[in-house]
Amino acid sequence: MTDANCIFCKIIAGQIPSRKVYEDDEIFAFHDINPWAPVHFLIIPKLHIPSMAHVTPEHEGLLGRMMLLAPKLAVQEGAKPYPEGGFRIVANTGAEGGQEVHHMHWHVMGGPRPWLRG
Ligand code: 5GP
Ligand code: ZN
Repeated sequence: MTDANCIFCKIIAGQIPSRKVYEDDEIFAFHDINPWAPVHFLIIPKLHIPSMAHVTPEHEGLLGRMMLLAPKLAVQEGAKPYPEGGFRIVANTGAEGGQEVHHMHWHVMGGPRPWLRG
């Protein structure tokens, strides 16, 4: 399922260019256009799920596979491995959660720490 008005669905379809990090049948990952950290990419399902508030038990396997990719891709993209390096995952959800693009995505951020608050 895709949404013709969704920028992330357009990125998956190649209608909007992106710097791809990873792709398989059900998952896509690409660099954030406005990075907050030395390493900053987004992991998204190809399925147009609007937010984390919309996930259901049928998405359990997909979410697990997305989560298993995060540490591998973080190192692939230049974060040092755990424990010296590492990364942060953020899933902004809804207006008060700071979500601007309503296609579920996880920010994966890493690299040297000056960017990190809290
Ligand atoms: P949100 O605030 O919804 O959690 O984050 C959306 C993220 O998507 C932002 O960090 C923003 O920089 C990124 N973004 C928005 N439009 C595009 C785009 O066209 N290309 C890429 N690569 N990232 C985008
Ligand atoms: Zn979408």
